[in-house]
Amino acid sequence: MDAALKSLSYPSDGQGFHRNGQGFPPNGIDGQGLDGMRNDNRLVDEARPVEVAPEPASATRVPEGIETGRPSRAEAEAAVRTLLRWAGDDPAREGLRDTPARVTKAYEQLFGGYSVDAEQLLERVFEEVEGYSDIVLVRDIPFHSHCEHHMVPFMGLAHIAYYPTRGVVGLSKLARVVDTFARRLQTQETMTAQIADVIESILKPRGVAVMVEAEHLCMAMRGVQKAGVSTITSQFRGVFKDDASEQVRFLTLVRGGAK
Ligand SMILES: [Zn+2]
Repeated sequence: MDAALKSLSYPSDGQGFHRNGQGFPPNGIDGQGLDGMRNDNRLVDEARPVEVAPEPASATRVPEGIETGRPSRAEAEAAVRTLLRWAGDDPAREGLRDTPARVTKAYEQLFGGYSVDAEQLLERVFEEVEGYSDIVLVRDIPFHSHCEHHMVPFMGLAHIAYYPTRGVVGLSKLARVVDTFARRLQTQETMTAQIADVIESILKPRGVAVMVEAEHLCMAMRGVQKAGVSTITSQFRGVFKDDASEQVRFLTLVRGGAK
């Protein structure tokens, strides 16, 4: 194994990575769709249907009087009460009385990624290590996200590698990039591509590889009800795309080659 190799593991302590004082999404839509997504080098094709990304809100004419923009907290809480009634419960009973307020508060954190600019996270690089050009691998980054089809959690680990060209980024920043995209409504495929896209466009590495493995509770709890199934998605760019031996190196390291 290369002596210059950097490899880090993040503890799966379930804590995730926290941000403070982040507001909730401005108007919800982040403009990230499937446009930038490339499935050509996915490791495992789960044969899931490709969803068509919704038009950005600004591109759709909405008639007067239809709700647009961000609802008030009171409106959000009322919506939770509606869902509680829809589920068959009584929002007025004691145990549920504060639930709408708690749910909206939880949403501010669970979906806090809409208000974070992932590009900005990567803008500061450490140029004093400009001489370092070998692979940088951060593996086992835990994340929690929500599927955009059912708003049910999916969670797992992300692994990221890149070959720096102009200095390296702080290693925790890669974890925050994962967190930023995870804390939005997602598909695993889109999230994998978004992580690769932002690293490619800001760090301009010789190559970037991203692998995400996750369990989807919407599969475990509803529909086919299969627990313990893990879905793997990957994106290879630059040398990782062009050179099969680089993919092998990445996969070997992810699978514990440098432990
Ligand atoms: Zn789902």
